[in-house]
Amino acid sequence: MDIILLSPPVANFGQCSSGLSVLTAYLRHRGWDAHQWDLAIDAFHHFHSPEYLSECLRRLEGAGPGAAKAREVARRVIVDIEAAKDALRRPGVERDTDTMRWAFETINDAGIVMTAASLGAFEHDFRHFGIRDAFRSYESLGAAIGDPERNPFLDFFREHALPRLIAARPRAVGLSLTYFSQVLPGLTLARLIKAALPETHLILGGAYLTATEHDTETIPCELVPADAIILHDGEEGLDQWLSLVLRGEGAAESIANCYLPAGRTFRRAGARNIAHTDLARLPSPLWIADGLELDKYLVPKYPIPLPLSRGCYWGRCNYCNISCQTVALYRTRPPELALEDMRAAIAETGSNWFDFPVDSYRPKELHALARAVIDAGLDIEWGAEVLLDPGFLREGVVADLARSGCRTLRFGLESACEETLQAMNKPTRPKKARRLLGLCKQHGIQTACMLIAGYPTETQRQLYQTYDYLVENSDRIDFLTIHQYSLVHGSPMAQDPAAHGLIVLPQEAVLWTSIPFQNTNPVGMRNEDLPEVVEAMKEGLKEHYPDLGELWTVAIGGWMTFPACCGVRRELVHPVGGG
Ligand code: SF4
Repeated sequence: MDIILLSPPVANFGQCSSGLSVLTAYLRHRGWDAHQWDLAIDAFHHFHSPEYLSECLRRLEGAGPGAAKAREVARRVIVDIEAAKDALRRPGVERDTDTMRWAFETINDAGIVMTAASLGAFEHDFRHFGIRDAFRSYESLGAAIGDPERNPFLDFFREHALPRLIAARPRAVGLSLTYFSQVLPGLTLARLIKAALPETHLILGGAYLTATEHDTETIPCELVPADAIILHDGEEGLDQWLSLVLRGEGAAESIANCYLPAGRTFRRAGARNIAHTDLARLPSPLWIADGLELDKYLVPKYPIPLPLSRGCYWGRCNYCNISCQTVALYRTRPPELALEDMRAAIAETGSNWFDFPVDSYRPKELHALARAVIDAGLDIEWGAEVLLDPGFLREGVVADLARSGCRTLRFGLESACEETLQAMNKPTRPKKARRLLGLCKQHGIQTACMLIAGYPTETQRQLYQTYDYLVENSDRIDFLTIHQYSLVHGSPMAQDPAAHGLIVLPQEAVLWTSIPFQNTNPVGMRNEDLPEVVEAMKEGLKEHYPDLGELWTVAIGGWMTFPACCGVRRELVHPVGGG
């Protein structure tokens, strides 16, 4: 085995990250004996099992009267956990709100039990693993991940990951950190692998590390014993790095998007060796070959995460770092290859439900893809994240998307106030957005909107203008998520905070995507008041959006697409008129 690509915990229990399947296929295509392993889903089942939760209960038995409530929850969850997991795999569950709520709450309660049983040492649930103050500095990070009292993943990896890796003896291991929740376990695993298999080459990459690229050259090699870190698009860089370390071919300076150890930290390997993968040159991803077991995921039907575009064609929103992460290069997979991918995925997985993990898709190109699907007679259902772009209002576009199987579209509405949208440099306009949302509903496409509350120039009046818009348009919007504004590294605002009235405060964390700031805009809301404002807003909107805040709609990737695609909300709302 040349390389095994791993997704460490804690990640999504509804879907494996597409990166593994895309990279494994690419490396095989390039002649490497590449394999994949979603260790995150194995860890999820280990920790969310009656056995592990019984251990937690045993620890809680000695915790005194203060832990009585946690013990009560533990006893219930130990009995229910397997049934809750099974329930989310049952076809039709997405139409049964009570069962979904019970299952998600039971799984969430398992997290309450694990966290309580740690007696304050860590927080662990199905979406998150955290150790208090771990990210304050590299020293605190190293201390946290090396401490068995605070890091249950040390034992888990020793028992469940290392034996398999030692038996397989891969020449290289790649760890992909897509989410923040994977950082502590991922770094733990990196250190254990290097200690157990010192000859094995270790490489790290993934979207989260890309989002914290500003810190890469400060990461101590002692903390992260990787032989390389590859950020942004990984295909070319991984191939070149494997050629160098396994075959002695090529030069370190020419490895794309790569940082290598240099003394005590990492240094960029060559200044200008940036690569943007040409999506027309990729083979179809491998969904199950040698690694993924799709029946482990808690979904009624596997949502195939097929990435058919990368980057954002707009790329100019002030608060967003997506365009910087992809260096503003927007690309799509040609429709004929996308169709090949879909046919291969259906044959391999038995699922025909595609959840395109994209940041944007030009209306013209998405329309061309839809036409190709229709012409090919391919029976699929799909969802994607797109801009509220007036291009979708062109005659016949939304109708064709629906005919091709589009069941849900997620939009970054962000605000319904023109002034705020202009300040954000967001191209969306509320009136056209209303028309597009209505058009989607007319064609049976479920709609989800993402909002940002507390943009630095936003006043309470402007936020409530958005609130009113959401109430007025609740017949056109099925799902809402509301995020509080944060200043993120790599965004245009982070490059010139003063121009946006922000004073940057000292950063007291490492490998952190957001930057602490003080808002000096005279009209803006105070940052510290925002959580309360957002909560009040959510509370008021609950009446109009019954799923708002439900666990299946909160940041767990593929899952919310099930209620969305299967028309749960469709049955709750009235028919929509045009315009
Ligand atoms: S917020 Fe969305 S539309 Fe704006 S630049 Fe980022 S990805 Fe593009």
